[in-house]
Amino acid sequence: MSTNKLSLYIHIPFCAGKCHYCDFYSVRYEPSLADRYLQAVIDEWELRISQSDLRKYQIETVYFGGGTPSILTPSQFSFLTSQLLKNLDLSPDMEFSVECNPESFTESKAKSFLDAGVNRLTFGVQSLSNIELSIAGRKHSSEKALEVLNSPSLYYFKSIGTDIIYGLPGQSAKSLKTTLGNLFLTPYIKHLSAYELTINPGTPFGRHEKRLPLPDEDDLAEMSSIVISECRAHNLERYEISNFAATSHRCSHNEAYWDHKEYIGLGCAAHSYLNQTRWANKHNIGEYISDVSLNVLPQAWSEKIDNETMAREMIFLGLRRADGINEERFKMLTGKEFTSCVDSEKLRLFLSTGRMIYRKPFWLTSEEGMLYADAMARDLFL
Ligand code: SF4
Repeated sequence: MSTNKLSLYIHIPFCAGKCHYCDFYSVRYEPSLADRYLQAVIDEWELRISQSDLRKYQIETVYFGGGTPSILTPSQFSFLTSQLLKNLDLSPDMEFSVECNPESFTESKAKSFLDAGVNRLTFGVQSLSNIELSIAGRKHSSEKALEVLNSPSLYYFKSIGTDIIYGLPGQSAKSLKTTLGNLFLTPYIKHLSAYELTINPGTPFGRHEKRLPLPDEDDLAEMSSIVISECRAHNLERYEISNFAATSHRCSHNEAYWDHKEYIGLGCAAHSYLNQTRWANKHNIGEYISDVSLNVLPQAWSEKIDNETMAREMIFLGLRRADGINEERFKMLTGKEFTSCVDSEKLRLFLSTGRMIYRKPFWLTSEEGMLYADAMARDLFL
């Protein structure tokens, strides 16, 4: 068994259509393009294994994200996973997650996930209001989402999660509360990610922002507190600013990112972090497939993460987490004391106002501080 640990991310860039707020790279699903892409992902993995001796690592988490991984057919998914995971040292308690959208989830896909060893599914529900779903350009109805979340096959997965968005055009605090209430009536949810809508230029929402009936700041604050109180009422702990989980149901894959553990991202637009270097693959699926077919790594850019960048990232990410910043780990990864990297006056202020708490060796953000976590991180940076 290897002591070197690695997480694996596989990007599936296919979607049934484009949601009106989405600025991720995605393309419409087309079976033969998907077949060529999956072969390229397998070839990229072989290329990276041969160049970086990745077989010496034990795989701790595997995460299929997108795009829409559940849009793949069962045979495409089985082919990809069997080729990627063969001859690897897989941790006995490896977390294996797949992002699903309700409209493309079926019982036969659930079976192919289970056969491949998947133990965690996360559903892009976003809302259970049909008006909000339609405005957002989602492809499922609330009825379909609820049908899927009640599927008997979900019982066989260790963990089921959902994503929601708040701050959608026309959404009210009351309708958000109804969405959460109906979600928590379903039997399997152990994890919730709740993101405030971001309007990105270049998306339909970005182009029509001025005409959108967006909730104001007071509405957003109320929605955020509804998410927190509903999750608390259903025993989901807020372990990161946007993520809530029942005991033992945190997403270990995301925690690996936040802990600066090493990971390889395969597929177009995927990011990786290995040997203090971060890189991203090319976005364009055609260029990605073409590079890999020529045995060329499909890399768009790479950067060395120096101690200063590491310190900044640890502060920014740590203040967003219930676990805070471990000053011993901070010193191990940056070579510096936490207190020497931050504005001491600001730190004293945050401690005296109760926005931060020091519980050796952890610098923690209080519940009130979570409201200002990003601004506090900016203030603390020297
Ligand atoms: S399903 Fe997800 S990735 Fe695809 S367009 Fe919608 S938000 Fe973007």
